[in-house]
Amino acid sequence: MKINHLGIATKGIKEALKFWEDALGLENVHTEVVADQKVRVAMLPIGEIRIELLEPTSEDSPIQKFLEKRGGGIHHIAIEVENIEEALAKLKREGMRLIDEKPRIGAEDCLVAFVHPSSANGVLLELVQSKK
Ligand code: ZN
Repeated sequence: MKINHLGIATKGIKEALKFWEDALGLENVHTEVVADQKVRVAMLPIGEIRIELLEPTSEDSPIQKFLEKRGGGIHHIAIEVENIEEALAKLKREGMRLIDEKPRIGAEDCLVAFVHPSSANGVLLELVQSKK
């Protein structure tokens, strides 16, 4: 297992890139709208992982709710797994609370599923299985 990316909630990616790209020097290599999750994402590689900037695309986006509550910040940690179905089944067997019982399509057509923060010490955890 390894960390795939860190998700950071922003009010606007364009504004956020003034820090992450212009000032810090990372490069935004990919931007897309993930309709299923009502977010626009920007991916900035850093070492072996990426920073994923998230921007809400609608008022009822989960990111919008997060921004209203906390004003931005680290939203989730994404862990790359070999087999997401197996990983979800194991977590369920261990009695862990899942947000997604079944994988969904995430950014770049990866399979993703979220584990509830109440089972992961307050951290929203995303499982990612890369497209083979
Ligand atoms: Zn993510």
